[in-house]
Amino acid sequence: MLSAKSMPDFLEGNNLPHIIPQPRKLKWGSSYVQLNEFKFESWNVPEHICGLYRNALPLNEQGGKLFKLTSTPSVKPEGYNLKIAENEISVCASDERGFFYALQTIKQLKLGNLLVCVKIEDFPQLAIRGFHFNLESVEMLDFNEVRRIIEMLGKFKINTLLLEYADKFPFTKHPAISSVAAFRRDEIQEFERLAKANCIDIIPLVQSLGHVRHVLRHPQYRYLLETEVEKLRREQFCPLKEDAFELFREMASEIMAAHPESRYLHIGGDETGSLGKCPDCASAAARYGTSRLYADYMNKVCAWVKSRGRIPVLWDDIISNLQYTEIADLLDKDAVIMYWDYWTTKPESPLLVARGTGYGVVHDKRWDGEWSRELQEPEKTVLAKFSKGIDLEKELAAGNYLKIFGRYLGRGFPKYVNAFPYIGFYRDKGFRVIGAPTTLGNGIDDTFGLPNYSRFLCNIREFSNKCVKEKLLGLVTTAWYNFPPEILSLGIMATAQHTWRGNTP
Ligand SMILES: [Zn+2]
Repeated sequence: MLSAKSMPDFLEGNNLPHIIPQPRKLKWGSSYVQLNEFKFESWNVPEHICGLYRNALPLNEQGGKLFKLTSTPSVKPEGYNLKIAENEISVCASDERGFFYALQTIKQLKLGNLLVCVKIEDFPQLAIRGFHFNLESVEMLDFNEVRRIIEMLGKFKINTLLLEYADKFPFTKHPAISSVAAFRRDEIQEFERLAKANCIDIIPLVQSLGHVRHVLRHPQYRYLLETEVEKLRREQFCPLKEDAFELFREMASEIMAAHPESRYLHIGGDETGSLGKCPDCASAAARYGTSRLYADYMNKVCAWVKSRGRIPVLWDDIISNLQYTEIADLLDKDAVIMYWDYWTTKPESPLLVARGTGYGVVHDKRWDGEWSRELQEPEKTVLAKFSKGIDLEKELAAGNYLKIFGRYLGRGFPKYVNAFPYIGFYRDKGFRVIGAPTTLGNGIDDTFGLPNYSRFLCNIREFSNKCVKEKLLGLVTTAWYNFPPEILSLGIMATAQHTWRGNTP
């Protein structure tokens, strides 16, 4: 005879559900319950949250057992306590996200009408757990795909979407910039609604200086170009042309209006390799330096963003570039630094990203010889494909690099470098930092026709662990190349897992 305590056949053995991200504390019971025996009840929980539960679960108003939601201020932000027992199901949280995430966990546990008994205490390690959509590069992210992936982000408890439209926004004042494949206004309103329904904050990204090829390719805006560059995608505005700043403001205003609740605006600022090249900029740089040319413009952009009630965020690669180290002193400290590094895959890393040294990504040349047997994957492939072996101590000392950044490299230098060493530099300069690994960037790094997941997953994991350890604002995983959108799924789950858990047991 089937006793009330026995498990159904399909849950026996090792077939219990694997929840992503893994809850912090989880203790399985030895029985299961049927949801239609439970009646919904709530204490001090907003009606729209109660509605989510009622709609998602087959509860029964005539049920004899209680499914109870209780607002509990002692539960950590975004966290929840969930108890599924034979006679009662209880969810406690202190905020909307906590209740939403408890429901996501229940959905992952649910098998039809059945729930396995379990006790969970859960909360995230990082406040910002984000993913990046680059709508310009990932061409196949159409309306239905964006909708599907936003729902997926919510399901896995990711709470931030860095949304880069480039030419996919339906600009009113500058319609020429909008691609024929741009989203419609009603579609963008739907993104905004969906994000809110999935507890996701949107951070719009509007390039303010570099990477504005989608604007400059039109003849009427060509006069705003700094200089012709080899890599067209890196075409940039001239920071001294007032019309460029005005155009940025007009584009950003429309995008911010479409996302009225966003706290942050990402202003790009990366890979501006043509700094100081036009005659006006060259003369300015000769007078007061290229660092100030960049910092003055970015500070102007930041001041405007702040005047619109948003916090500016920018990419970090120019700020840690050895050629421009004064920028960190000159730049507005209210700006949040988004630190990208797509190569580091270990806490003690054989490689170092040393921009502005003339080398880029480097490692001690002994890794190519006497230490080579110690190398494992994915470092072995990353070093071979992306990094240059040099006499690190000698070459970096010669260029002043060690004088500025040496203190952040750790005791293992030159053999090993502390992963993501510029976190210390940015913090010492007074900035808040968000980490940015990638699930698809800096070379497709082809592995049998697929991205090199072993590199990307380790990059996401190590950067998440570091952000947790250093108590940073959070982490946003980037994705850059034009693959079918399904390719993003694994990176999304890795981001969810590691930003929620860090390296806690
Ligand atoms: Zn210029």
